[in-house]
This record gives sequence, C-alpha cells and structure tokens, in this order.
Amino acid sequence: MSRTTQDQFIDDDEEETCPLCVEEFDLSDKNFRPCPCGYQICQFCYNNIKTTMNGLCPACRRPYDDKNIEWKVISPEE
Ligand SMILES: [Zn+2]
Ligand SMILES: [Zn+2]
Repeated sequence: MSRTTQDQFIDDDEEETCPLCVEEFDLSDKNFRPCPCGYQICQFCYNNIKTTMNGLCPACRRPYDDKNIEWKVISPEE
C-alpha cells in the first residue's frame, strides 16, 4: 500500500504557505488578510514588515494598516 507521488502532490497543494517565510499558515493565518488587495502573509511576517521593514504590502505597496485587516470567515464546506 504505497501512495503515489501524484497523490502526495495533490495533498500538499491544499496546504497554503506564507510566500515570505514559507511557513504553513495556521488556522488563524488562513483567514488573515492584512491588505485590501488580498495578498496573504502570516501574522508573524505582517508584524515583521510593520516593525522592522517599510510597512508596505509586498504585492501592491500600500501601507499596511491595522484597520484594513480582514478576517475572512471560510465555511468548512468550502
Ligand atoms: Zn510568513
Ligand atoms: Zn496589498
């Protein structure tokens, strides 16, 4: 009973990772959208950008603002 490489690839594809630190999003990160453009990063990188970098979204260069953060609620069926 060995799984094929293809099956594993499909499984991996469902796990989303942060484009900046390549860490898997945890449950709250998956709903975390710090920018209106929808570019998704983990909360660790968001805080990192705000505190140690320029505070701009890497995708659209808009300044990050805590009041723009959206918490998307995704139903388990999707
Ligand atoms: Zn990250
Ligand atoms: Zn953006």
